[in-house]
Amino acid sequence: MKYSAHIQNVAQHLHGKRLLHSEIPLQNELIKQALKHGYLKAEPGLEMIGRRWTCRRCGNDDQTLFSEHHCARCQTTCSYCRHCLLLGKVSSCQQLYLWIAPQVTVPSRQETLQWRGDLSPGQKKASEAVIKATHEQQELLVWAVCGAGKTEVLFHGLEAAFSQGKRVLIATPRTDVVKELYPRFMQSFPNIPISALYGGSKDKQPNAQLVLATTHQTMRFYKAFDLVVIDEVDAFPFSYDKSLQYAVHHAKKECASTIYLSATPSSSLLTTPNLTVMKISRRFHGFPLPVPRFQWCGNWQKALRKMKLPHVLMTWIKAHQQKKKPILLFVPSISTLHLVSSLLTEKSFVHASVHADDPNRHQAVQAFRDQNIPLLVTTTILERGVTFADVQVAVLGAEQDIFTEAALVQIAGRVGRKVEAPAGDIVFCHYGISQAMRAARKHIEAMNSEGGIK
Ligand SMILES: [Zn+2]
Ligand SMILES: [Zn+2]
Repeated sequence: MKYSAHIQNVAQHLHGKRLLHSEIPLQNELIKQALKHGYLKAEPGLEMIGRRWTCRRCGNDDQTLFSEHHCARCQTTCSYCRHCLLLGKVSSCQQLYLWIAPQVTVPSRQETLQWRGDLSPGQKKASEAVIKATHEQQELLVWAVCGAGKTEVLFHGLEAAFSQGKRVLIATPRTDVVKELYPRFMQSFPNIPISALYGGSKDKQPNAQLVLATTHQTMRFYKAFDLVVIDEVDAFPFSYDKSLQYAVHHAKKECASTIYLSATPSSSLLTTPNLTVMKISRRFHGFPLPVPRFQWCGNWQKALRKMKLPHVLMTWIKAHQQKKKPILLFVPSISTLHLVSSLLTEKSFVHASVHADDPNRHQAVQAFRDQNIPLLVTTTILERGVTFADVQVAVLGAEQDIFTEAALVQIAGRVGRKVEAPAGDIVFCHYGISQAMRAARKHIEAMNSEGGIK
């Protein structure tokens, strides 16, 4: 379809999107014209079904997540969705604008992959499955152990998609993962326009052929992608959240392929009808997954209240520090994090601590990655998606509910990821062994024996 220069400009910014008026970086007059020509449609942001609100952007229909306020726009009392508030307020007096004219086509580009590494036998099989899924509009789960190298498994499939002029979305629950993946894809596909979207990022490439986005940012797209990859599909909080499904459903074109990546898929995902499952039970470097040790550490909560770090934990930290190994210590809550951190400071341990709402989180993680900080204390925020060379890992209070089987498998999966340091220590410090701890250890041992490693 040929558009006038003005509309072409609108199309570049808006096709494949569903945005609030305030999110559209164009003059009002252009928006009006696009509406008049039927390229753009406006629909209410909130919809009243029966006597219940539904948010059209995030799909939320939980009435407790809607609030009312006196609205400066419409000068009446108006409702808004709190669930997707971080993306800008969708209120009952506002509309979402969506592009309904044909999509702007993306050029097909040949031989885009500049990555020249080798795939392990497991990666190779999965890579072939990804290419097939890309061509045949399948739903595929790549069930890959932590450290299997699942990003590389995508490369050839993405190259196939780009050669057909397809647009690709990689959605992941975590900002850290978007930031880690972005430079790797830039390097591997230097000629593909790539956009990395997370809270606070700027979309410099509104028409990118490859979009890396957090689940929240995915909500801004509408029928935009031919291939959608959902990374860490089981990850908290989205496994409990319909909005991921809603966002991905709307971001996909009708005949899109979907690829799920997970080391710890939920049973509900595994029972999805028509799902093809491809397992990689061996790490890319061929070494086994480190099996966690269980270490009783007494009533650690009581110890902390008395301003003492559990003795076994102190000994463990000192032992690894003597060997100059980087140490990652997981704790079950932010309050424990603060307490542990202040006790470490008291004992003159150089360290940093991070949690989800920590504004300095990315700097601290980077400093630890660069080995400028020897010890990092963290909540489960770093349980997945991050790689630190030769890291040794302990979990304090591993019996706590927040450490589910999946969380513990992921945490153990931080150890031994590099071929130069393929082993390491993973210890669950506990005050009573939990079911999840046992299940995690069994899970890891089962994957090792499936991968042919005794
Ligand atoms: Zn209003
Ligand atoms: Zn919403």
